[in-house]
Amino acid sequence: MTRVKPIFNVFISILLLCILFLPLSISGRITGDSKPAPPETTPFKHIAGAVHLQTPVSGGKRTIDDYLKLAREKDIGILIITDHDTQKYEYGIWPLRGLIKKTVESPSVFKYGCENYFALIRQANSSSNDVLIIDGVESMPFYYWSGGYFNKDLSLNDRGKHILVIGLNDAQGYKNLPLIGNGKSRFSQYEGSQSYTPYQDLIDYCNARGGCVFWSHPEAKESKSIRNIIVNTLPYPEALKATLNYTGFAIFEEGYQKIGIPNGIWDTVLKEYCENKRTNPVWAIGELDDYGNKDIDKVLTVFLLKHKTYQSAIDSLKNGKTYTLLKGHSASHLVLEEFYLYNPSASPASSGQVGGVAYSGEEFVTSSAPYLKIKISQKTPSRGTKATMKIIRQGMVIKEVNQTLPIEVKFKDNYQIKSGERIYYRLDVVDEKMNCLISNPIFVRFQQ
Ligand SMILES: [Zn+2]
Repeated sequence: MTRVKPIFNVFISILLLCILFLPLSISGRITGDSKPAPPETTPFKHIAGAVHLQTPVSGGKRTIDDYLKLAREKDIGILIITDHDTQKYEYGIWPLRGLIKKTVESPSVFKYGCENYFALIRQANSSSNDVLIIDGVESMPFYYWSGGYFNKDLSLNDRGKHILVIGLNDAQGYKNLPLIGNGKSRFSQYEGSQSYTPYQDLIDYCNARGGCVFWSHPEAKESKSIRNIIVNTLPYPEALKATLNYTGFAIFEEGYQKIGIPNGIWDTVLKEYCENKRTNPVWAIGELDDYGNKDIDKVLTVFLLKHKTYQSAIDSLKNGKTYTLLKGHSASHLVLEEFYLYNPSASPASSGQVGGVAYSGEEFVTSSAPYLKIKISQKTPSRGTKATMKIIRQGMVIKEVNQTLPIEVKFKDNYQIKSGERIYYRLDVVDEKMNCLISNPIFVRFQQ
């Protein structure tokens, strides 16, 4: 009897230790059967979109019909046409600028006629019953001259600083854009840089008319000399910090190195949103910026839609219900099959999420750390392709998964929550063939 008791005690102790440490080893450490059951499927159709397409209206080689043909071949369901609004540069010699002047003008929406352009897109959209065709322009609200013609240092500045205006859905709306080139800007090209005010004017104008506004190729630069005139646009990643209330920016192909990279400028502005320093979040899209020689599916913006209509496509751009793909050397695009946060204690918040689940662009309110459910696969599966997925919270990579596709992760983030705080999660994925996928953020607000 007395010899059995110590063994029994040891057994009980081990059992107690197991019970004590088992929950610790599971909590926050991913995979396995986490307690709250995630929803079975994501309630959105994934519709691939090609954004930022130039037609012959502003110097592109492909017509809308050409784009339609290509879209059907590559399973693309949305085309966003964005010809240049103006490509007109006027220099008058002081003090007779109105009289002695030279104007250089290339094809553009204004030269073609805003009504004609809008009618062209509307006509194409109404005769296509599978692919949605959405109106837009690549806007140049401002440029300015520096130096002087007689000093041989005349410079044309910032003509390459562009904003995509999408979905104004009205020829008059485009006609009245505040631009130097149509005389509706309150600025002139002769008074030097006006910092970001002319751009903010354009953003405010489009917001008031229900359109979307995306900074286009913010890390691109143009520097050359044309007929003894220096033409100069420096990269403008700081535009994202200097302006407010725009819808987002194009992360591919010229918005990743300084803006989209983990802890880059995008994360800075998203954190500003979390701290209530800006009213709107900032979403990433992909732009092809095509004049007729690119693979139509080189860069895709994938729309997460419940219904494929013009208005739901515009709403998904406005609400971050998209993700972005860049095609690498070969093989297949990545697919964001699942990405959502869930929590049994969550309650409905502002962005229309239902029942403790938040998808791309949404927010939920919760009193405890959230669970993340992620599944990344390939459109055309090829065996053994490895990929790296980074889970980013507030600009920090909190988890990196390197493995063969598909990647499937259920993860509880052991974040030390502070009541009243808002945070976000986003994904950055690249496979060994350099196919990239960037999600938009999902927000969480903590409330005790
Ligand atoms: Zn451009």
